[in-house]
Amino acid sequence: MQTQLFINNEYVDAKSGETLSVYNPHDESLVAENVQVAGQADVDAAVAAAKAAFKGPWSKLTGPERSKLMLKFADLLDKHATEIAPLESKATGQPVQVTMMLLGMTSSAFRYYAGWTDKIAGEQYPVVDGNYKIVQHEPIGVCAGIGAWNASPAFFGFKIAAAVAVGCTFIYKGSEKSPLALLALGDLVKEAGFPPGVINIISGDGRAGSMLASHMGINKISFTGSVFAGKKVQELAAKSNLKRVVLELGGKSPSIIFDDADIENALVHHSQNFLFNTGQACIAASRTFVHESIAPKFVEALKARFEQFAHTIGAPDDPKTFLGPLVDGKQFERVMNFMEIGKGEAELVTGGGRHGTSGFYVEPTIFLNPKDDARIYREEIFGPVITIRTFKTEEEAIEMANDTEYGLSACVFTTSVSRALRVAGKIESGMVNINSSQTFGMDASFGGYKQSGQGREGGREGVMSYLETKTISINMNV
Ligand code: NAD
Repeated sequence: MQTQLFINNEYVDAKSGETLSVYNPHDESLVAENVQVAGQADVDAAVAAAKAAFKGPWSKLTGPERSKLMLKFADLLDKHATEIAPLESKATGQPVQVTMMLLGMTSSAFRYYAGWTDKIAGEQYPVVDGNYKIVQHEPIGVCAGIGAWNASPAFFGFKIAAAVAVGCTFIYKGSEKSPLALLALGDLVKEAGFPPGVINIISGDGRAGSMLASHMGINKISFTGSVFAGKKVQELAAKSNLKRVVLELGGKSPSIIFDDADIENALVHHSQNFLFNTGQACIAASRTFVHESIAPKFVEALKARFEQFAHTIGAPDDPKTFLGPLVDGKQFERVMNFMEIGKGEAELVTGGGRHGTSGFYVEPTIFLNPKDDARIYREEIFGPVITIRTFKTEEEAIEMANDTEYGLSACVFTTSVSRALRVAGKIESGMVNINSSQTFGMDASFGGYKQSGQGREGGREGVMSYLETKTISINMNV
């Protein structure tokens, strides 16, 4: 198990002398101690390595040469996924098959962006006032990423693959709750043949994150996490060198179910998909709006599904487990607290408490008809807790769906294509799923409206955000 920082293609102890420990939320047992925590000198060393690589060997590789390394890394990741997945699963409580899926998304991200290395064209404009103009794109330079713990390897992939595809170099800091799988990736970075300094992986909490956000040697930072920390990153970036910032933040995503919807499909998406990763997903549709004519039947059927899923709660390393524990004691206290508050704000349909007597397990929970100002309806809980309200008209449903400070994702369930597209057009969110939920593909933009974020990852937008644009004017009269 790697617990050291991965800087300049070497595993090294932190100069800070600080370490952290990781515990298993299934039984609170120790998973790892002495995980090295980066301090300022370590962040400086990672930035120096990334800068040297950016100016040196990495800048000399052609696009197809970069692709080759990226594809090799993806193959190595697939090959070693079964060894890496338990490290993540033990630290986060994520069922091992969920971590396997996330590792698959990571290798997919490297394969997808390996196809972009030689596809970035520029522009040219005809002569105006004697000047001919060429617009070209250049890698932004040294970049950093900070990630949340709920899909840790995937965030590593989305950010780093896009950056290195266009010739940037990278320093990645995952969450202090999930450092082990990420640190294991250093060995694969080296084996794939990336020159030293191209991809650096460090560990630490918000303090290490702040050091990255405020570092004068970093040109861009991509952050995935809470709105609170995202705003801090933005602030530090502005106060230091005005580095470019992409923010992938929280959500309280709405889902609208019309009376003509395929109810079985809607039930699958609001139970199985919603409860995926024990509801710890930024895009989980936790505010459900059901047309009043189908609401009683829908709520009854969803209650039965949630109660069935309660039987799939189990140890993360058991292949039969669908619902693992919450990530740690802090998250457990937070979700339990929301459940208690919710009992005074809405009608509890099912769940509402701890599952079992050990580990950080909670029951899948449904609240009906929360008050308009209910905290369980307004705030991101990040657990298996869904709220349901009813509506009469399309306009009312859209208004309720948009009445939030978030705007990450949304769902619309209907068999009318025109209604689906009409409603999708009026929803204020970065992603809208029609008759689906939690969809994600590297080929399209991912990100939020309003306080759910700024900028986009994925697809063309994701890769373009790692480039600067330069206009070269040529005086045609000389
Ligand atoms: P968090 O904000 O507490 O931590 C995220 C990361 O930021 C961690 O690596 C942490 O060490 C770091 N950090 C904390 N304070 C910082 C600071 N002041 N400066 C710099 N870095 C700092 O979030 P979390 O609890 O790890 O994750 C849950 C949150 O992430 C939820 O709000 C969820 O919706 C959001 N999230 C968003 C997306 C998305 O793509 N939009 C994906 C997953 C999770």
